[in-house]
Amino acid sequence: MGSAAVSHLAARGIRALGLEQFAIGHDRGSSHGASRIIRLAYFEHPAYVPLLVRAYELWRQLEHDSGERLLTTTGGLMIGAPGSEVLEGSLHSARTHALAHEVLDAAAIRRRFPAFQPSRDELALFETQAGVLRPEACVRAHVSRSAALGAKILDQVAVNRWSATNDGAVVVDTTAGRFEAGRLVLCPGAWAPEVFDAAVLPLKIERQVLHWFDPHGSSEPFEPGRFPIYIWDCGDDVQFYGFPSQSDGPRGVKVAFFRSPEAETCTAATVDRAIRDEEVDRMRHALVDRLPALALGHHVTSVVCMYTMTPDRHFAIGVHPRHPQVIMASPCSGHGFKFASVIGEILADLTIDGNTRRPIALFDPSRFRANVAEHS
Ligand SMILES: Cc1cc2nc3c(=O)[nH]c(=O)nc-3n(C[C@H](O)[C@H](O)[C@H](O)COP(=O)(O)OP(=O)(O)OC[C@H]3O[C@@H](n4cnc5c(N)ncnc54)[C@H](O)[C@@H]3O)c2cc1C
Repeated sequence: MGSAAVSHLAARGIRALGLEQFAIGHDRGSSHGASRIIRLAYFEHPAYVPLLVRAYELWRQLEHDSGERLLTTTGGLMIGAPGSEVLEGSLHSARTHALAHEVLDAAAIRRRFPAFQPSRDELALFETQAGVLRPEACVRAHVSRSAALGAKILDQVAVNRWSATNDGAVVVDTTAGRFEAGRLVLCPGAWAPEVFDAAVLPLKIERQVLHWFDPHGSSEPFEPGRFPIYIWDCGDDVQFYGFPSQSDGPRGVKVAFFRSPEAETCTAATVDRAIRDEEVDRMRHALVDRLPALALGHHVTSVVCMYTMTPDRHFAIGVHPRHPQVIMASPCSGHGFKFASVIGEILADLTIDGNTRRPIALFDPSRFRANVAEHS
């Protein structure tokens, strides 16, 4: 979100400085692991769809500007029993916005995508536009674009504290000295509870694990072109997702839980990055009846990532409640990457104009005021 914001600010002629505590493209936050899903028939809420349309345009624009392939469409299956959130929510968004889609029954899913073994009552929404973003490449492309447009990016520089000044500006103290600016855009991801200043948002950081398996038997059914991205709703707030095999990142086929009551709460400073055997077993268990060739496959590797969760799982993007010169963004509740391009544009709007024509009412940070009062 930060790299996208800097590039949009620089594109509008603003003198922008981007600060990152680690190296660009690092693996200690929320934007690593070689792949992120992008999809249009958004089950979380139809209000995301217009933003997604713009996000796709801006990712294609960034590809054009950078000369790099960032987004590959693979098609997407949103699978679940009738009444499940993933299936019904996707259908609701598709119908609300007249999005092209098909509804496949279990037999049609097995026929078209033989790796999938849905149970008899399960259905899927299939959309052709869904696909895969390469997160590290996206971040680097935004950073390169920012530099080409005249912005300054400093990596390996940590913000120790920031403060709003009485004349409406900000002062930021970092490991590389003090900076003063007219506006401050905060996109600290899982570090938000420490960086946002006091209890302005009731956020929870979740530890999430990504797994790669080599399919048992032939890997052909998992190759791009034959295998779509998918989210599978198992009921009881358990959902998992995955990708076709990919040429970059670890070898094998990536799969992870999207939602799971077993997800642990952590902090960015203390998150446990060690993988436990039972976590790999839990993934295999979810896969065994559904994608058996993965459940029986060789475990290649697993990696830890963090979600920055709001109580209702919608984003929090807006002006800081106490400081109008400070914009807060990025508690993206585990589904924000695909929106980074359009969120960068929105953050530039909020920074320059104080408002945006993009529909972001759902993300108003003040909706949690009652929860914050309870917390503090
Ligand atoms: C396992 C996993 C799977 C996901 N899958 C998907 C998916 O398929 N599709 C999707 O759309 N989304 C997905 N998401 C969510 C998405 O990746 C995140 O919403 C998004 O990457 C968040 O970006 P961010 O910029 O907020 O955080 P980050 O990318 O973590 O960026 C925040 C940055 O701020 C820096 N920072 C923090 N504090 C300081 C400080 N004091 N000084 C300097 N720098 C600081 C951090 O080092 C970090 O680089 C997934 C997330 C995870 C963890």
